[in-house]
Amino acid sequence: MSDIEGGCACGKVRFKISGPLMGSGVCHCLDCQKASGGGPNYVVLAPKMGFEVTRGEAKIYTSTADSGAEVGRAFCDDCGTPLWSITGPMAPFYPVKVGALDEPSGISPALHLYVDSAQPWHLMHEGVPQFPKMPPMGPPT
Ligand SMILES: [Zn+2]
Ligand SMILES: [Zn+2]
Repeated sequence: MSDIEGGCACGKVRFKISGPLMGSGVCHCLDCQKASGGGPNYVVLAPKMGFEVTRGEAKIYTSTADSGAEVGRAFCDDCGTPLWSITGPMAPFYPVKVGALDEPSGISPALHLYVDSAQPWHLMHEGVPQFPKMPPMGPPT
Protein backbone atom coordinates (compact mmCIF):
# COMPACT_ATOMS: atom_id res chain seq x y z
CA MET A 1 0.00 0.00 0.00
CA SER A 2 1.28 3.45 -0.84
CA ASP A 3 1.62 6.20 1.73
CA ILE A 4 -1.37 8.32 2.62
CA GLU A 5 -0.63 12.01 2.89
CA GLY A 6 -2.55 14.86 4.37
CA GLY A 7 -2.37 18.21 6.05
CA CYS A 8 -4.17 21.34 7.07
CA ALA A 9 -5.88 23.88 4.83
CA CYS A 10 -3.01 26.41 4.86
CA GLY A 11 -0.26 23.83 4.36
CA LYS A 12 1.70 24.67 7.51
CA VAL A 13 1.27 21.15 8.95
CA ARG A 14 1.71 18.05 6.77
CA PHE A 15 1.76 14.37 7.72
CA LYS A 16 2.25 10.97 6.17
CA ILE A 17 0.80 7.56 7.06
CA SER A 18 2.65 4.45 5.94
CA GLY A 19 1.45 0.95 6.60
CA PRO A 20 -2.12 -0.29 6.49
CA LEU A 21 -4.82 1.65 8.33
CA MET A 22 -6.15 -0.06 11.45
CA GLY A 23 -9.77 0.93 10.94
CA SER A 24 -12.17 3.77 10.38
CA GLY A 25 -15.09 5.20 12.25
CA VAL A 26 -17.48 8.04 12.89
CA CYS A 27 -17.66 9.46 16.42
CA HIS A 28 -20.78 11.32 17.52
CA CYS A 29 -19.59 12.34 20.98
CA LEU A 30 -20.22 15.99 21.82
CA ASP A 31 -16.50 16.78 22.04
CA CYS A 32 -16.06 15.53 18.49
CA GLN A 33 -19.05 17.57 17.31
CA LYS A 34 -17.39 20.66 18.76
CA ALA A 35 -14.07 19.79 17.13
CA SER A 36 -15.61 19.08 13.75
CA GLY A 37 -17.80 22.16 13.62
CA GLY A 38 -21.18 20.45 13.57
CA GLY A 39 -20.97 16.96 12.14
CA PRO A 40 -19.58 13.86 13.74
CA ASN A 41 -15.89 13.11 13.56
CA TYR A 42 -14.82 10.93 10.61
CA VAL A 43 -11.50 9.26 11.33
CA VAL A 44 -9.13 6.61 10.07
CA LEU A 45 -6.90 4.82 12.54
CA ALA A 46 -3.28 5.37 11.58
CA PRO A 47 -0.73 3.01 13.15
CA LYS A 48 1.50 5.07 15.47
CA MET A 49 4.57 3.38 14.02
CA GLY A 50 3.65 4.59 10.54
CA PHE A 51 2.50 8.10 11.38
CA GLU A 52 4.91 10.94 10.72
CA VAL A 53 4.59 14.72 10.77
CA THR A 54 6.49 15.82 7.69
CA ARG A 55 6.12 19.59 7.98
CA GLY A 56 5.38 22.10 10.73
CA GLU A 57 4.02 21.43 14.17
CA ALA A 58 0.42 21.01 15.30
CA LYS A 59 -1.03 22.61 18.40
CA ILE A 60 -2.58 20.13 20.85
CA TYR A 61 -5.74 20.78 22.84
CA THR A 62 -6.21 18.28 25.67
CA SER A 63 -9.49 17.47 27.36
CA THR A 64 -10.96 14.65 29.42
CA ALA A 65 -13.23 12.21 27.56
CA ASP A 66 -16.24 10.70 29.29
CA SER A 67 -14.18 7.53 29.77
CA GLY A 68 -11.98 9.62 32.07
CA ALA A 69 -9.07 9.39 29.66
CA GLU A 70 -7.14 12.43 28.47
CA VAL A 71 -7.65 13.04 24.77
CA GLY A 72 -5.43 15.37 22.79
CA ARG A 73 -6.68 17.00 19.60
CA ALA A 74 -4.09 18.23 17.16
CA PHE A 75 -4.94 21.16 14.94
CA CYS A 76 -3.20 23.87 12.94
CA ASP A 77 -2.89 27.03 15.01
CA ASP A 78 -2.87 29.16 11.87
CA CYS A 79 -5.88 27.87 9.90
CA GLY A 80 -7.67 25.82 12.58
CA THR A 81 -7.98 22.58 10.59
CA PRO A 82 -8.56 19.60 12.93
CA LEU A 83 -5.88 17.02 12.13
CA TRP A 84 -5.63 14.01 14.47
CA SER A 85 -6.25 12.86 18.03
CA ILE A 86 -4.00 11.37 20.69
CA THR A 87 -5.89 8.87 22.79
CA GLY A 88 -3.20 7.79 25.22
CA PRO A 89 0.01 5.77 25.30
CA MET A 90 -1.76 2.40 25.17
CA ALA A 91 -3.55 2.98 21.87
CA PRO A 92 -1.56 1.58 18.93
CA PHE A 93 -2.99 4.22 16.61
CA TYR A 94 -3.81 7.88 16.13
CA PRO A 95 -7.32 8.67 14.90
CA VAL A 96 -6.69 10.96 11.92
CA LYS A 97 -9.45 13.22 10.57
CA VAL A 98 -10.62 12.06 7.18
CA GLY A 99 -11.01 15.69 6.13
CA ALA A 100 -7.28 16.23 6.62
CA LEU A 101 -6.37 13.57 4.06
CA ASP A 102 -5.40 14.61 0.53
CA GLU A 103 -7.50 11.79 -0.95
CA PRO A 104 -10.40 10.97 1.39
CA SER A 105 -12.70 9.53 -1.28
CA GLY A 106 -11.47 5.95 -0.86
CA ILE A 107 -12.37 5.81 2.84
CA SER A 108 -15.62 4.31 4.02
CA PRO A 109 -16.58 4.30 7.70
CA ALA A 110 -16.63 0.87 9.36
CA LEU A 111 -18.70 1.88 12.38
CA HIS A 112 -20.47 4.69 14.20
CA LEU A 113 -19.76 5.27 17.89
CA TYR A 114 -21.27 7.41 20.62
CA VAL A 115 -24.53 7.44 18.66
CA ASP A 116 -26.29 8.15 21.99
CA SER A 117 -25.29 11.77 21.46
CA ALA A 118 -25.75 11.86 17.67
CA GLN A 119 -27.98 14.66 16.43
CA PRO A 120 -31.45 13.41 15.44
CA TRP A 121 -31.09 15.05 12.03
CA HIS A 122 -27.84 13.30 11.18
CA LEU A 123 -28.30 10.63 8.49
CA MET A 124 -26.65 7.31 9.33
CA HIS A 125 -25.09 4.96 6.80
CA GLU A 126 -27.36 2.00 6.29
CA GLY A 127 -25.81 -1.32 7.28
CA VAL A 128 -22.88 0.22 9.19
CA PRO A 129 -22.74 -0.94 12.83
CA GLN A 130 -23.67 1.59 15.52
CA PHE A 131 -22.55 1.64 19.14
CA PRO A 132 -24.24 3.74 21.87
CA LYS A 133 -20.84 4.69 23.30
CA MET A 134 -17.38 3.16 22.83
CA PRO A 135 -17.28 0.03 20.69
CA PRO A 136 -15.93 -3.03 22.54
CA MET A 137 -12.65 -3.02 20.59
CA GLY A 138 -11.45 0.31 21.97
CA PRO A 139 -11.38 4.01 21.31
CA PRO A 140 -11.11 5.34 17.76
CA THR A 141 -11.25 8.97 18.91
ZN1 LIG B 1 -2.95 25.34 8.63
ZN1 LIG C 1 -15.71 11.55 19.86
